[in-house]
Amino acid sequence: MKYVFGPVNSRRFGISLGIDLSPDKKSCNFDCVYCELKGAKPVNTITNPPKVQDIIDEVKNNIIKFPNIDVITITSNGEPTLYNNLELLVDELNKIKQNKKLLILSNGSTICDKNIEKALKKIDIVKLSLDCATQKCFKKIDRPLKGIILEDIIQCMKTFSKNFKNTLVIEILLVKGINDNIEEIKKLNNILMQIIPQRVDIGTIDRPPAYQVQPVKDQEIEELIKYFDEKLPISLIRKQNSNKQECFKEKDILYLISHRPQSQFDIDTFFDNNSKEKIGKMVEKEIIEKINIGGTVFYRKIL
Ligand code: SF4
Repeated sequence: MKYVFGPVNSRRFGISLGIDLSPDKKSCNFDCVYCELKGAKPVNTITNPPKVQDIIDEVKNNIIKFPNIDVITITSNGEPTLYNNLELLVDELNKIKQNKKLLILSNGSTICDKNIEKALKKIDIVKLSLDCATQKCFKKIDRPLKGIILEDIIQCMKTFSKNFKNTLVIEILLVKGINDNIEEIKKLNNILMQIIPQRVDIGTIDRPPAYQVQPVKDQEIEELIKYFDEKLPISLIRKQNSNKQECFKEKDILYLISHRPQSQFDIDTFFDNNSKEKIGKMVEKEIIEKINIGGTVFYRKIL
């Protein structure tokens, strides 16, 4: 196997079969401080890109081998939208994906390119990153290739979201001392309220980063997310090993869920068995409902 990896159980999107479009070396137009890959000079092409047919052959074999996968994830050792044949690849994957969803994990930088936009519109779940609201912060955290302007990206994300019929997920990665301040979060909130994605995933550094930066503590993240509008479906990306399970009264559960839909992961991790039972009963009584947004189950109050 050269281009396909997994399946891996991704908490955010389900059981995922990954496609790496840059198997030879990191090819990215960003050089994020938090990158899990080694830091590298930003570039705008993929070195030695694989052929579409070779990828399709591998994916076909793997779908037979692993019939239970939920998503086929287009990703890369870098930025997958730098792949020169993205639209053709998406078309071919759509032909063979059966009941699986097609997902792309992009840093969002190429969203103003009409060809990329056209390819992304054919994908079931598009995840774009947006770590900052200001160019200063963007340059510090994502260290983009010269000439990439955050304001342009934001405007194009708004247009994309308006015309996109499938699921748009925006991911924010918080880094201590860079984008974990209230002013930046308030500005991000204003932007997100204009983009109106179906889901906002918020996390922090979880694995060794490319540069000497620190994660933001869970408690501080909890405080920061209070500055996001209640209408935004925020999903916290937490470490797997968190084990602070709480016992909630029914009225507290309702209060919590009516203010912010809770993801299945939030429920599994932070609610004890007794609270989970109460939630199950509230679903049966149709006080709250379970909905699936881009592979993540949320519980929300029925209005
Ligand atoms: S966009 Fe992704 S691959 Fe590129 S530098 Fe940032 S984290 Fe790494």
